[in-house]
Amino acid sequence: MPDDRPIILITNDDGALAAGIGALRKAVAPLGHVIVVAPTREQSATSHAITIDRPLRHIEHEPDLHSIDGTPADCVYLALFEPRFLPRRPDIVLSGINHGPNLGTSVFYSGTIAGAREAAIRGIPAMAFSAPVGVDLARVADDAARLAARLLMSEPPIGSAALLNVNFPAGPARGIRVTRVGRQIYEESVIPRRDPGGREYFWIGGRVTETGDVEGTDAEAVGQGYVSVTALALEATSPEHRHLAVHIAGLDPIA
Ligand code: MN
Repeated sequence: MPDDRPIILITNDDGALAAGIGALRKAVAPLGHVIVVAPTREQSATSHAITIDRPLRHIEHEPDLHSIDGTPADCVYLALFEPRFLPRRPDIVLSGINHGPNLGTSVFYSGTIAGAREAAIRGIPAMAFSAPVGVDLARVADDAARLAARLLMSEPPIGSAALLNVNFPAGPARGIRVTRVGRQIYEESVIPRRDPGGREYFWIGGRVTETGDVEGTDAEAVGQGYVSVTALALEATSPEHRHLAVHIAGLDPIA
């Protein structure tokens, strides 16, 4: 009998054996044929990098659980274009559950979101899941599976594929809100130190100091205890600054 269950590809940026991806894999198992292709080691904050200057090694941990020693985008790329990983093109791609939120400006740094974005660029509906460290992952994964089931059942939009960024609050959710990307303000910290050999090195990247609790944003919703669902655009052209590009190019209409 042919297996006509939906194909669900899962990746993440915390590593194929992380607790968050394990919980998601288990929760979505009833929805289809679930295949994990995820990084061998943690790749948080690698954004949408792909590895083109060294070989990518593959480990099959068990049937339908693969790791690649690359980035989340590498994993999705390989899963889609190397036939051994999936029986056919996936119906949806899920990324996460990330160990930590991906709110506001984090959408630019997140490997979790990039894994989902790599699929959306290829026309496959994709959803990224993130939750604060220390949440009840089994509970969050059940909520994530309900959203994944809805995405599977949804009529695909005209044009580019959907890319949804989902963030869960720390405790049980009070509800769910559709939001826009907010701003997160980080400490912008640089710590210079010396290694035991006397050579200087730096630690960069501060904590979030302000979530910019602006109405309607992802950070506000999660801060108030709601699940946040944000539709992210694949369109990179800014209409806001087109006039400046026209000016820089020297193409202003003569006044
Ligand atoms: Mn991560």
